Amino acid sequence: MSIKLSSIVKRLEEVYPPNLAEDWDRVGLIAGRPSSPVDKVLVAVDPVEKVLAEAVAKGAQLVVTHHPLYLRGTSFVAATDPKGSLVHGLIENGIALFNAHTNADSATGGVADCLAQAVGLEDTRPLIPLDEHTGSGRIGRLSAPMPLREFASKVAQSLPACPAGILVGGDLDAPVSAIAVSGGSGDSFLADARRAGADVYICADLRHHPASEHLEGGKPYLICATHWASEWPWVPKCANMLQESFPEEIEVMISRICTDPWAARITPENKDC
Ligand SMILES: [Zn+2]
Repeated sequence: MSIKLSSIVKRLEEVYPPNLAEDWDRVGLIAGRPSSPVDKVLVAVDPVEKVLAEAVAKGAQLVVTHHPLYLRGTSFVAATDPKGSLVHGLIENGIALFNAHTNADSATGGVADCLAQAVGLEDTRPLIPLDEHTGSGRIGRLSAPMPLREFASKVAQSLPACPAGILVGGDLDAPVSAIAVSGGSGDSFLADARRAGADVYICADLRHHPASEHLEGGKPYLICATHWASEWPWVPKCANMLQESFPEEIEVMISRICTDPWAARITPENKDC
């Protein structure tokens, strides 16, 4: 059994409407012929070489990723650079590529909802709402308050394993209950998380100055995951959605390869700075 690529694209665009994407974003079908038959799909965070190799090994004809391949456009797709090489690899192997980026961040059941669910939040609502259920980030509550230290270790356990782990900023013994989340780079929502009354804000890629200057002003405390780990909880959710949409026609597979750029975190011991 198989189904046309165009039918899968239509379903993906119903669940992650392209009009939810930010103006600067690029979302949709990156490579592929809409009339091509598809019977195996791989869902991943990043359109990178390792994921293409996995798709080839597993016989997928479609890779669905969160991140775009060319966010800023290109004039060249020659196989002389990594992205051009990826385009060639896709076409040579008959594999289509589709992405849902900021539209999947905002959508109901999207990246932000999946992160909120993964870390155990209840009564969630969008941090920056477009309407009741969609918008950037989420804020919700834990079923019971717990010290930041304990919550952070639960977060580390609930995200997929990756070499870089998580970073925690704030008073480790303070009780926390109201939690804001945003998958991926999160600097831009620090003020929103504070305005919403969060005790903790979870995101990825926090830099020294925004994080330090924010914490000088108090809560929310910060949990900085890696980009891949904070967005990965969406991968199985998207895969399940596709599998349930086309139970007979396709087999949907989940990529578990960590595509963070970091291979290890090395913490020095017994050292004064
Ligand atoms: Zn991202």
